[in-house]
Amino acid sequence: MTMASRETNLRPLLREGALYWADNARVICAKCAGQSALYTGRDISGQKVERITVAEVRAWPDDLGILRCASGCTALTAIAGPDGWPLERGDVW
Ligand SMILES: [Zn+2]
Repeated sequence: MTMASRETNLRPLLREGALYWADNARVICAKCAGQSALYTGRDISGQKVERITVAEVRAWPDDLGILRCASGCTALTAIAGPDGWPLERGDVW
């Protein structure tokens, strides 16, 4: 039995290699966002998740460490890629 709702898109709305603000300024990525956020663009509280921009990566305070998702699997650079969104870091570990 499926829990798919009318709002559910078959294609993930979140991209791998990107980060998103979820509830309480939690940072998530497509891999650890959970099915709800991944396919509806909304977290479990129903709030829309917002993709993190290059400006937000640049504004991230150094003393908070690397801007990365809550599970630590994805982090961003402050460099804009060809699509204008921040590039993923490959050196987080
Ligand atoms: Zn993640």
